[in-house]
Amino acid sequence: MPNVTFKEQEQVLKYRTDTIHTDKHTKRFSHTTGPATCPLCGGSDSAPHILLRCNIHTLKRLHINRHNHAVSLCGEEISKGKLGSAFVTMDACNSEKLSDLNIETPDDIERNIPDWVFPTRQNLPTRHQSRPDGVLVMPIEGRGRHLDPKQIPPKDRDIHLVEFKFCSDINPQQTLETAHNQHQPLIQRLRTRSLRGISRNNQVTLHVILLGVGGTIYN
Ligand SMILES: [Zn+2]
Repeated sequence: MPNVTFKEQEQVLKYRTDTIHTDKHTKRFSHTTGPATCPLCGGSDSAPHILLRCNIHTLKRLHINRHNHAVSLCGEEISKGKLGSAFVTMDACNSEKLSDLNIETPDDIERNIPDWVFPTRQNLPTRHQSRPDGVLVMPIEGRGRHLDPKQIPPKDRDIHLVEFKFCSDINPQQTLETAHNQHQPLIQRLRTRSLRGISRNNQVTLHVILLGVGGTIYN
């Protein structure tokens, strides 16, 4: 694990063995009772609280950076592979952040889902739209020859939405459900609705990649 510092490994081990310093531990070692509260936000303190839920600005920023880092690394790997030409957007493609991590910003990558991906003209402002971390558009097998996503007719598109989420290592289910609910309206809007049969419609699939904060990966 050359990219993981000793300090980071130490913290992961502490998390896994429930020895990260929290108010719960302070209470235990000082033999005091009462609810363990987060000294930063006043919420109920625990290791998952620090790593996932604490809403204080500094921690929120760390959580967002961790998410963007993961998205960047995954996006970088996907764009190098055979699905590279299908990439339409990658949300965490913040060029400043990527250059900090020595990752080059891929060309032609936009932050929002472009209008042409939707089968009909959109009249809802983009801020009402959920934004998955990645969007890939490829032809449905046997129904298209174009590899350029824009050239594929809407009904022949095989659209893949990618969402990365950090979650609890022991209880990922709720995060999975949240991700699916979050993008359901978008999935509906991306679907074509031919009355001439389902086989004439496009395909829209959401892939949720769950990363446990202690290093567990669900897929
Ligand atoms: Zn807190």
